[in-house]
Amino acid sequence: MNNLLEVKNLNTSFKIGVGTVQAVRGISFHVGEGESVGIVGESGSGKSVTMLSVMGLLPDYADIRADSILFAGREMTQMTPKQLRAMHGSEIGMIFQDPMTSLNPLFNVENQLTEPLRIHMKMGKTEARQRALELLKQVEIPNPEARLKQYPHELSGGLRQRVMIAIAIACGPKMVIADEPTTALDVTIQSQILELLEHLKNTTKTSIIMITHDLGVIASMCSRIIVMYGGIICEEGSAREIFYEPKHPYTWGLLNSIPKINGNPDEKLIPINGTPPDMLMPPKGCPFAPRCRYCMPVCREYMAPRTQLGETHAVACHLMHPKAPKVEREV
Ligand code: SF4
Repeated sequence: MNNLLEVKNLNTSFKIGVGTVQAVRGISFHVGEGESVGIVGESGSGKSVTMLSVMGLLPDYADIRADSILFAGREMTQMTPKQLRAMHGSEIGMIFQDPMTSLNPLFNVENQLTEPLRIHMKMGKTEARQRALELLKQVEIPNPEARLKQYPHELSGGLRQRVMIAIAIACGPKMVIADEPTTALDVTIQSQILELLEHLKNTTKTSIIMITHDLGVIASMCSRIIVMYGGIICEEGSAREIFYEPKHPYTWGLLNSIPKINGNPDEKLIPINGTPPDMLMPPKGCPFAPRCRYCMPVCREYMAPRTQLGETHAVACHLMHPKAPKVEREV
């Protein structure tokens, strides 16, 4: 599989009144053509900032540095804001968490759905309208003729998210980034939206990056998972490796906090105690050290190197050192 996106040594920081927030600290990753990758981590782990950095969608006070961001063979770090804007919608589509704040309340569905078609695909009014109808059918919105005339406030949360997905795929992008696409929805609608995204992935062969704090959301959808914590990648691997052979204590914590369908209803979920690190002053060593029950003195002093365990599986944890104590995940 060829790489569609290849990011090398990305660092993103924000200068604010009291100092500099180091949101993303030297991460590298790739996404293959037609591949679905999940980026998982709690709030403040740097997962959304990573993709907004790649897209050039952060405010001016963000400082984005990378050795390279290659998309479809083109170097995005060399692109002008205008060139980057031209890629949004046409080659990279985005689905945000809350469609109510992403859709423009002043325009109806037809206006918002036909705009990218007219700008990027140079379609005329009639052709764009026809394509908008097809897109609404593709995202399984009933009675699409009537829906075209409606405004965002007239649609339910699930329908609004379907419209967002239709806008994201309107121009046939090579990659779609979905940032917590189901967090604002109830569980039934959440499952329908995930099924829809999976169907689109299988039928259009678009690469999908799914950003979420919930490992359960991407279990069936993503073939590879990147786990982020404190602005770094602490573990990455195939879905099987992350779910069945996780090696990083933070990944263990994430897995232990997911309810199991066939589990004992009286069984308590195990939370990850403590709070995420202050990224104004990130720890010198492993960012998970203050919350990690296996923390060793070396963890507080030095960031763990990345250990490659297999072709796709890599972990940044001092427990991977041959002389480290052997510990097992507690389930
Ligand atoms: Fe825990 Fe140390 Fe591994 Fe960090 S490097 S996760 S503190 S054992």
